[in-house]
Amino acid sequence: MDTPNQFGRFHRQIILPGFSIEAQKRLANSHALVVGCGALGCASVDLLVRAGVGRLTIIDRDVVEPTNLQRQSLFTDDDAKRGVPKAEAAAKRVRAIDPSISVRGWVDDFRAENALQYAEGADIIIDGLDNFETRYLLNDLGLRRAIPYMYCGAVGFEGMTFPILPSVGPCLRCLFPEPPNPGVAPTCDRAGVFGPAVAVAAGFAVGSALRYLAGIFEDHDSDLVSFDLATGRLHRTKLGSSARANDCAACIQGRLDFLDGARSSQATILCGRNAVQILPAGSTSIDLDGLALRLMAHGAFTVESGRMRGALRSERTSTGELYELTVFADGRAIVRGSPEPSDARRIYTQYIGL
Ligand SMILES: [Zn+2]
Repeated sequence: MDTPNQFGRFHRQIILPGFSIEAQKRLANSHALVVGCGALGCASVDLLVRAGVGRLTIIDRDVVEPTNLQRQSLFTDDDAKRGVPKAEAAAKRVRAIDPSISVRGWVDDFRAENALQYAEGADIIIDGLDNFETRYLLNDLGLRRAIPYMYCGAVGFEGMTFPILPSVGPCLRCLFPEPPNPGVAPTCDRAGVFGPAVAVAAGFAVGSALRYLAGIFEDHDSDLVSFDLATGRLHRTKLGSSARANDCAACIQGRLDFLDGARSSQATILCGRNAVQILPAGSTSIDLDGLALRLMAHGAFTVESGRMRGALRSERTSTGELYELTVFADGRAIVRGSPEPSDARRIYTQYIGL
């Protein structure tokens, strides 16, 4: 069946110790779920597709903005000018890199209600996120479906990554029982983010993911790795079965609170955007053309590619600018102009209606 050149593009990978044509076939038959396609997601998707992972599902709720381009390596200036959804831009880029890859890009908010559906058939979960709540959801998802989840985070000059292997090693809640309180953990909005820190973190996470999928995973691949590119410090911690917490709420007691919907919020501060996303409870459907018409008195709104965008003439931010509103057909909205959830909720209630 194999043509002589089927794996030709992967020659330099196949000749690596441990890799082989067989390992390459395992990668080709693998399906990676990438949740979030900002900086970490872009770096991870690029590595996965070039390594020959045959199927990718990419989910991201946001659109490309000019300030993303410093580190989000799949996107172009044109994507930012047109405000293309990141999942769409990433999928298009993947097809350009390797047309034989099966890729789906979903413009959606990854949440408890749709997590199991998106994880269908996935062999591994890759963390491309910028918020902790969704990481705890991925942890629950991985445990429920027995899928390895590669935790990955980067902010400032620092990064941290480790694989969560259900029933084998500790889960996220064994190591960090609760997510940090809002406003406590540094965000890329407040602390900035160094592009190379993203690349290093994604390099470790996808390195372990590829070695797992290729069947050449070894003990050291499950280490927790943390680093700081401002000082050059790199630290590894062994994460064997002894690192599991005896009383872990998730992997020992089986309480998957983030997946079962007991713990999900409606307002999310969007990293680096001076914006808040509002997600109405339950599923809903909005007639975007009708809404744009209703909002005519408040500004010029355009409907394109399943979203309505525009600026509210009657709303001024604390710096005197106009609030911008993007509304998606499922009722989700991004309110830009303030990082305060209360401002966003007010605008949502006033102009869209909860
Ligand atoms: Zn646990």
